[in-house]
Parts: sequence; structure tokens; C-alpha cells
Amino acid sequence: MYTRIFASSTNAFINTGDGLGMAARAGIPLEDMEFWQFHPTGVAGAGVLITEGVRGEGGILRNSAGERFMERYAPNAKDLASRDVVSRAMVTEINEGRGCGPHQDHVLLDITHLDPAVIMSKLPGIREISIKFAGVDPIKAPIPVVPTCHYQMGGIPTNYHGEVMVHGDKVPGFYAAGECACASVHGANRLGTNSLLDLLVFGKSSGNTMIDYIKAQPQELPPLAMQDVDRAPARVNRLDTQTNGVAVNDARTAMQRNMQTHCGVFRFKDLLSEGVDKITEVEKMVQQTEISDKSKVWNTARTEALELENLIEVAKATMISANARTESRGAHVRDDAPDTPEHPNGRDDQNWLKHTLWYRDGNRLEYKPVNMKPLSVETIALKTRSY
Ligand SMILES: Cc1cc2nc3c(=O)[nH]c(=O)nc-3n(C[C@H](O)[C@H](O)[C@H](O)COP(=O)(O)OP(=O)(O)OC[C@H]3O[C@@H](n4cnc5c(N)ncnc54)[C@H](O)[C@@H]3O)c2cc1C
Repeated sequence: MYTRIFASSTNAFINTGDGLGMAARAGIPLEDMEFWQFHPTGVAGAGVLITEGVRGEGGILRNSAGERFMERYAPNAKDLASRDVVSRAMVTEINEGRGCGPHQDHVLLDITHLDPAVIMSKLPGIREISIKFAGVDPIKAPIPVVPTCHYQMGGIPTNYHGEVMVHGDKVPGFYAAGECACASVHGANRLGTNSLLDLLVFGKSSGNTMIDYIKAQPQELPPLAMQDVDRAPARVNRLDTQTNGVAVNDARTAMQRNMQTHCGVFRFKDLLSEGVDKITEVEKMVQQTEISDKSKVWNTARTEALELENLIEVAKATMISANARTESRGAHVRDDAPDTPEHPNGRDDQNWLKHTLWYRDGNRLEYKPVNMKPLSVETIALKTRSY
């Protein structure tokens, strides 16, 4: 989990993409980084997740006029349409002036019509979150919500054994599983609950492969290359000697604001290309961060500075990959690639049915084909998503 590159996120503060940062610095490409899932219902202002279960129990999204607006966007599934569809509908309502609150910057999730006994027995945690983070008891009043970044479909490229793959070759002894990995089981848009595949299926598979690899190694460890040993503390040394630098919080805030504005739920051609320039500027800030506390033990300021160096790799990969993909697909939706009969859902399969690979070195992009041949079942043909 590493949605902390965005200003609004469901993830914990520690979710800073450390694995991806390390892989990128080691020359491993990051795959499909343009595909981020926004969850529709984060508490406005806090980002904390309000589960789909609330809408599953009958919760209704309303705009400032009290209208159940999802009836217009997804007449059949309504409030239970998929996350990206609901998120985009909410942002459209807000952008078109039908948002709620003094700044018209959120919509409302209404469960006041539910029996309080149902809320107390089935959604007690949500009631607590709403009271703590929004100051609203959902038994009495609707919860203010906005889309908030939740999950990354891409990551470190792996095969289904968890082995990291570059140009079709295994990187010996390097494995990734979980949200940091891209075994590409979710394509451009994950279904809720499917992290279980990342964790249980590919976690176990990676573990088994690692055991086999370790058993096949000689007892003696190979000698350590001294240039790698010397390289390791370089970032810490830079932080310890930086003067006239940038505050970590300023650089992180600039990154998060840029990502939210230039590469959020909806993507706009001009904003994306401006975003590439801006994130390059933020990278320069990150290269000059300075910490005032140089103490050696449990120094959280140093940890945060190092974590930011990982986040910025994730942010650059995202912005540059998203700017390059000039179609809409899954969670990546651009204004200049609308839904038309020739390009259903804005997809351009002829040119863009392919995976993005972003390399840190020179922000280089490469592409690789999508594997459309499952091992043991028939492939499912691409088709238009509709609700
Ligand atoms: C609020 C919320 C609700 C969700 N609900 C669902 C759901 O209902 N269904 C579903 O399928 N998915 C859900 N997800 C998504 C799912 O939880 C995540 O995709 C999944 O937990 C990711 O697991 P992971 O092991 O890859 O990463 P993590 O759970 O983030 O684990 C990474 C671990 O690495 C450790 N770590 C981090 N940095 C370092 C470092 N530098 N050195 C050493 N260790 C480090 C962390 O402490 C952590 O223990 C939800 C996510 C959120 C945020």
C-alpha cells in the first residue's frame, strides 16, 4: 500500500512505497503505475475509509439538492456501481456545483433512513469513524464523503511465482508479492476484496518459489560487492550534511497536492503534461531535503525524509506513465479519450492494449504485451463496461 503520494488517501502514514523505491533505484522498472483505484467514500477532509458495506446495507449518496445522483450515472447498479464509476460520478457532481458544505467540496452518504439497530449491529465501526473523523453521528445525519486514493493496480513486475521479471528474464533472488507487486491479476482496475489474490495466492506461491531457490544455493554466501556496500549509506550521509535545504513536510505536501490535482480521479491532457513538469520540480525539492534533528537513535524525521525519497519515485512513475497513456482504461480516465462507439469506455485496444514499464533512469518508458492466454481456462474477450 502506498497511496500516500496523494493528498487524500485511505492508507496509513507508513504506506510510503519503500519496496518500489528500492526496486526503481536498483534499475527495476515499475509496471502499470498509471492505474490507481480511488475509493468513493473517504471521510471528507480525513480520507479515512467508509466501507462499501454501508452502501450494501442501503446507504445512498446524495448531492446538495438531496438527489440520489447515482440513478443518473448507473441506472441499474446505482450506488453499488464499481468504485471508479461512483468516484467519477461524485467528482462530476462536485465539479458541476452540486457538492455539499460551505465549499461545495464533498457529497453525502446517507444512512439516516436505516433502523438505528441495524447501524449499531452491522456498522458500529463506521459509526465510530464518522463520529471521530467527521463529527457526525450517521444515525442522525449523513456522512460527508469524497473519493480517496485506495489501491495501486501496478507495481514491481513479477510472474505468478512472485519472481521479479525484467525483459522476460528473472532477477535472481528477487521476489515481490502483495500490493507492491504487479503480477497483473487485476488488469487496469481491481475488484474490491481481490487483495486476497495478491496476498494469499501470490504470497504463498512466492514463498514456495523462494524456498526452492534458497535450497538450491551453495552453503557459502557469495562475496559482497564493496561498491554496493558503499552506496547504501549515501542517502543517509546526504541528509546528515544537507544545508539550506527544503523541509520534508513542504516537499511532501507539494508532491501530494500535485498528484491530487494533476493525476486524480479524472485526468486532463493539459493538467497531466503540466504535472510532469511539476513533479520533476518536486523531485528537486526531495533531493535537497534537510532535517534539523540529526540524532542517531529512533529519529523519525530521518525516517520520513527517506520514505519521501521512495514516495517520489512512485509519484514520478505514476505521472509519467499516465501522461503517456493517451486512452482511457480501467481506473485511468482521460478527458481527451471519451467513451465513443469506436473506442468503448475510451479504450484504444489497437494502440494501448499493453503494459507500461517506467524506468527511473531518464524516466524512460517501455511497453510489453498483455498476456491474453490463461493457462487452464478460456480467455474472456474484451467488452464494453456498462451499468
Ligand atoms: C482501509 C483499507 C481497507 C481495505 N479493505 C480491503 C478489503 O476489504 N478487501 C481487500 O481485498 N483489500 C482491502 N484493502 C486493500 C488491502 O488491505 C491491501 O491491498 C493489502 O493489505 C496489502 O497488503 P501488503 O502485504 O501488500 O501490504 P501492507 O499490508 O502495507 O504490508 C506491508 C508491510 O511492510 C512493512 N514495511 C513497510 N515499509 C517497510 C520497510 N522499509 N522495511 C520493512 N518493512 C516495511 C509494513 O509495516 C507492513 O507490515 C484495504 C485497504 C485499506 C487501506
